[in-house]
Amino acid sequence: MAAAIARLWPDAQFAAGPAVENGFYYDVELEHRISPADFDKIEAEMRRLVENDLPFQKIEVTRANATDCAKRGRLAALGDRPVPSKYKLDILDGISGGVAVSLYQCGDFIDLCSGPHVERTGVIEAFKLTGVASAFYKGDESSPQLQRIYGTAFPRKADLDAYFAMLEESKKRDHRKLGRDLELFLLDDLTGPGLVLWQPKGAIIRQELQNFISEELRLQGYDQVFTPHIGNLQLFRTSGHFPYYQESQYPPLVEREVLSRLAREGCSCADLSNRLKEGTVEGFLLKPMNCPMHIRIFASRPRSYRELPVRLAEFGTVYRWEQSGELNGMTRVRGFTQDDAHIFAAEDQLAGELLACLKLVQKVFTTLGMKDYRIRIGLRDPHSDKYAGSPENWSRAENALREAAATLAFSHAEEIGEAAFYGPKIDFVIRDVIGRSWQLGTVQVDYNLPERFDLLYAGADGAKHRPVMIHRAPFGSMERFCGMLIEHYGGAFPVWLAPEQARILPITDAQTSWAREVCRRLFDQGIRVTVDEKNDKIGGKIRNAQLEKIPYMLIVGAREMSGRQVALRTRAGGDEGAVGVDALVSRILAEIRSRQ
Ligand code: ZN
Repeated sequence: MAAAIARLWPDAQFAAGPAVENGFYYDVELEHRISPADFDKIEAEMRRLVENDLPFQKIEVTRANATDCAKRGRLAALGDRPVPSKYKLDILDGISGGVAVSLYQCGDFIDLCSGPHVERTGVIEAFKLTGVASAFYKGDESSPQLQRIYGTAFPRKADLDAYFAMLEESKKRDHRKLGRDLELFLLDDLTGPGLVLWQPKGAIIRQELQNFISEELRLQGYDQVFTPHIGNLQLFRTSGHFPYYQESQYPPLVEREVLSRLAREGCSCADLSNRLKEGTVEGFLLKPMNCPMHIRIFASRPRSYRELPVRLAEFGTVYRWEQSGELNGMTRVRGFTQDDAHIFAAEDQLAGELLACLKLVQKVFTTLGMKDYRIRIGLRDPHSDKYAGSPENWSRAENALREAAATLAFSHAEEIGEAAFYGPKIDFVIRDVIGRSWQLGTVQVDYNLPERFDLLYAGADGAKHRPVMIHRAPFGSMERFCGMLIEHYGGAFPVWLAPEQARILPITDAQTSWAREVCRRLFDQGIRVTVDEKNDKIGGKIRNAQLEKIPYMLIVGAREMSGRQVALRTRAGGDEGAVGVDALVSRILAEIRSRQ
């Protein structure tokens, strides 16, 4: 694309142009304002380069050679130019001396690039430019504004078509639209950005998911706890959440009396902020994580090895500060509820507990029909100093995660530098029905917090030992998970999750009494059911129920009433004819119980 643009506008100055998920972009400084109307012209040049089947050739040079090239205007260009390739010069300035610099040449076009590349342009069968936006050089608002041109490319035309079909389908499934149409949740400016209001129908889905998890937790020996939404700053100083990660938290709450005293003393906002950090002024924090409070429950009395592992679970609501531009429906929010738990275990129990956690996540995904997932093991970056805890403990924790993943034969990738500051972790990445990736459940090992809180238990040898902690959340956040589920199911939830499981549609008023009797019988069995008594034609009633994605529609006319039956219509399968009420109840209940 850059070569094509350079042919059309030789004065173009290119900055950075990385590959991104599902495509690529290139930032360019150019007098001409590129608009989608130019895309045909650029794509035509690109097509010519593809047809010529030009090789991409790697040239390794010294940094001094590359800098010479840039000074001659030769980088990201088709030949020498009267002005230097200024952004490439700046990028080269940031590369330390001594290392070889790689250039790639394709036809007359030469660019600075670490590669790798496909061998020849001819292998790119299908490509398309997808958009243009403005972007500051290096994301810095004081730097020049550049034009960012986006595109995507695939080896085959069929892959490109499938990608755009997926984009169309994801628009239809957008949880923000479906959430509004189906009245599942609200984001309300008056309530505040990024703070989700669960409407009654959305609350049913969340409650069913929580019940499902709670049943599994009971079987796996977890204990349920509840903790408050705010806690002493001192608690979070001890845990390290404050002032670490201060930027991603709401600012602390300070009591009124303390604020008045500080005002009398002439304390400025900057002083207050510093004194909160140092701990010479106290306050409260909206909790960014549930762990410290679960730790305090564990530490409330002496513990013996006999009661380990202690597993404390809570649907705990936490608050994180996100930039308003980053907020997105239910999937990026400022307040969310984690299906959280903390396991306090002896060292020799760690591997077994990790395995059980991973199996729990597996069970959750299987139940929800998500068969395509992989895991990502986030490891520390050995060259960074942001991590707490000793390197020996980190290595032990990382190995334990690898072993658990290997035991379950999960396909996994290891990512350096993706660990939490307190320990390594496993993230589950799901591919939904239309092929998009979502990062969901997480399991993390933690050797750090037990040390910070000086947690101990009495071992079989009579000596004191330090437990190891596991943090885990199969759904991650209820908000994000439900947002993903809405899109995964396209709003058509399986019966066990459907806010309204059955609706009875009387054809005329004459069948209202029978419709109400059927409704009562389903309701008494715990089925979520209503009667549509509106003065509509039956066709309209069916259409509404279908739009609301209700799994079972029970139509009652004169014939059904006299036979004490209903005519069954399902969301998926259409008309199934007359059925007795008892048989129908058994069928719906079996479907709910199996969660299929
Ligand atoms: Zn935690």
